[in-house]
Amino acid sequence: MVAWDWNLATGTVHRSEQAAEILGLESGTADDFLGLIHSEDRDRVDAAFAAAKRGEGDLREEFRVVLATGQTRWVSAVARLRIDPETHHPHLAGVCRDLTDRKQAELQIQASEQRFRQMANTAPVVIWVTDVSGYCTFINEHWARLVGQSVEQALGFGWLERIHPEDRELAKSQFVAATERKSDLQLEYRFLDHANNYRWAIAAGRPRFNRDGTFDAYIGCVVDITEHRLLEERLRQSQKMEAFGQLAGGVAHDFNNLLTIITGNSESLAEQFPSDDARLEFVREICAAGQRAASLTQQLLAFSRQTILASKVLDLNTVVSDIERMLRRLIGEDIRLRLRQEPNLRLIKLDPGQCEQILMNLIVNARDAMPRGGEVEIETSNVSLDERRAASHPEAIAGDYVRLTVRDTGCGMTPEVRARLFEPYFTTKAVGKGTGLGMAVVHGIVKQNGGYIDVSSEPGAGAVIQLHFPAVEGTAAAPKNEASGKPAPGSESLLLVEDEDAVRRLLLRILEQQGYQVLVASNGREALALLAEHREPIELLVTDVVMPELGGPELAHVLCPRYPEMKVLFLSGHTDDAMVRHGLVQDEVAFLQKPFSPLALVRKVREVLDATD
Ligand code: ADP
Ligand code: MG
Repeated sequence: MVAWDWNLATGTVHRSEQAAEILGLESGTADDFLGLIHSEDRDRVDAAFAAAKRGEGDLREEFRVVLATGQTRWVSAVARLRIDPETHHPHLAGVCRDLTDRKQAELQIQASEQRFRQMANTAPVVIWVTDVSGYCTFINEHWARLVGQSVEQALGFGWLERIHPEDRELAKSQFVAATERKSDLQLEYRFLDHANNYRWAIAAGRPRFNRDGTFDAYIGCVVDITEHRLLEERLRQSQKMEAFGQLAGGVAHDFNNLLTIITGNSESLAEQFPSDDARLEFVREICAAGQRAASLTQQLLAFSRQTILASKVLDLNTVVSDIERMLRRLIGEDIRLRLRQEPNLRLIKLDPGQCEQILMNLIVNARDAMPRGGEVEIETSNVSLDERRAASHPEAIAGDYVRLTVRDTGCGMTPEVRARLFEPYFTTKAVGKGTGLGMAVVHGIVKQNGGYIDVSSEPGAGAVIQLHFPAVEGTAAAPKNEASGKPAPGSESLLLVEDEDAVRRLLLRILEQQGYQVLVASNGREALALLAEHREPIELLVTDVVMPELGGPELAHVLCPRYPEMKVLFLSGHTDDAMVRHGLVQDEVAFLQKPFSPLALVRKVREVLDATD
């Protein structure tokens, strides 16, 4: 610190020793010093000196001086006018301090502050500082980008205005709760974005403490988690669907047992009435209802993916013709259905049930796209895809294909809808009308079977969906209900294992009526006990799959080595048994899906007994 005294009457200035060190000056005239003042600060400081000399108050200035060495220093000058009591000369007396270190630190702080602001404002997350009550003292510009509110508006409690009214109180109370615990803060809330849509955000904050340990502020960030939420929601939805599928599968299992009893007994009953009996009509109604219920459970199982896939060599034309009547019923009377079938259609390998499901899904979509009627056309054709064209199609490889085209004159699709067509749960239909699973299932089945799909559609111009399945060689499997009439009676000895009493009784009756020698057991363990006393050969094991004690596949596993000639027929109302599934896909085991009619059972039994392998 330099102390100085400037005699205004004589113009001389006395300076203390430090003047040499700080300013490079000794005592002398005022001009020595005034000449050092930085040119940018000079006018201001000159004016302040002039005012002080006139006695208009104390001088108090901070400014730069440039020393003779060229070095710049920040100094502060404080001075007051006084009159010397002896000489009556006016003096300006004061002190001058070196501020250089402090000023440099200040400048550094300023620069770092600026850097921080720049970083904070370009960060792609919201960064905020609030006091313990949520009063916001800083928020970066990302807030303005994310939320329809300027930074200035957000300060204080302004930010709360953009929080969903239902979440506002919670947000505030969570601040209070976290403050009381002096702990981290985490809020999830909905906020209004710049387009006035609600989105989800998570705000996380951490308390900052003063040096004395008192609570100072929260510093935190806000991240938009809307996309995460959507994904989460989708995952939940698919888990729900899976749980629902399992439930449906379980229900279908029990249901199929009941339906076996209902349809089996009513068909047996029908056979006992003379054909002109008026009561026959009632029994037939029961049979028909049982069959409808059976197709319902089949759909439930298909949905839960618990149907057994049995790929067969198929003629697509036959499948289309077989379910044409049902498709017509599905679309109603305002829509015309046209079939264009290639007479020399090649064969494909596909599960017939899946094939029907695909057709139904496509037809239902076409119907929904034509609420005021129109036309839908199902066309089959042979196509070959050469290397060049295959290359332009991401999902296809070159080869021969059978094409199924479904064309409608409905509302068509926008490019956005077309892009998401195969996405599970994507639907444009009202809640309860669409599940968004139809095309996802179609896509899954086609992909699974090595095929590919083309879609072309314009809004208002209908849709054309083309499915391609690889063509295969071979002979088409006999369609489901082709064999007619009852097979000839048999005399073989069978082992029937089924845990449901009523189902077992029904099956026993049907098989015995057909002439078979039947041993019965209600589960695998019982069957083994029974066989311990039975010395005759067993020619066919007819067994339920899922049973308490010992299930069908396990039983077969034990018995097959013991009776090498024995054939096995599995019955099941649900199909989650891995071994049977696997065996069926490999065409290794015989299987009859419950519910089945007595006729289907005796046919299947005959077929398995007669099979040569
Ligand atoms: P859902 O029928 O349950 O909505 P889909 O997966 O079958 O589910 O279809 C998804 C969406 O694709 C439909 O909601 C609809 O917007 C559109 N879509 C499917 N097929 C057609 C079609 N033939 N014409 C117009 N839009 C269709
Ligand atoms: Mg659909």
